[in-house]
Amino acid sequence: MASLRDQLGGLVYSTESGQHCPDCGEAKGQCRCDELSEAERLATLDGVVRIRRETKGRKGKGVTTIRGVPLTSAELKVLAKRLKQRCGTGGAIKEGVIEIQGDHREVLRQALEAEGYKVKLSGG
Ligand SMILES: [Zn+2]
Repeated sequence: MASLRDQLGGLVYSTESGQHCPDCGEAKGQCRCDELSEAERLATLDGVVRIRRETKGRKGKGVTTIRGVPLTSAELKVLAKRLKQRCGTGGAIKEGVIEIQGDHREVLRQALEAEGYKVKLSGG
């Protein structure tokens, strides 16, 4: 029996591209691929938030990255905003990883622990 995904897949190639998601064939706006990949990302998390400073290929103090936060993209955005304010700096979210400008590992660790996360500092 063909899976739902295969059935959808069959539709993809018979419809015009551009209006439809290349992955699932649904019309843009109907497509759930982002949510599905988010679910996959969340499923791989072990509940430990990892904070790490990364300077490679970056200017100055680099960035502090926060990985493994078990939140959806929308919730991550809210958290990132709070953390940026806390550090008084800018930042971004890339594929589930929060990046905070500069080295704020200690502040971020305290802030996240205060919110109830299990936090691990890694790397240098
Ligand atoms: Zn899709």
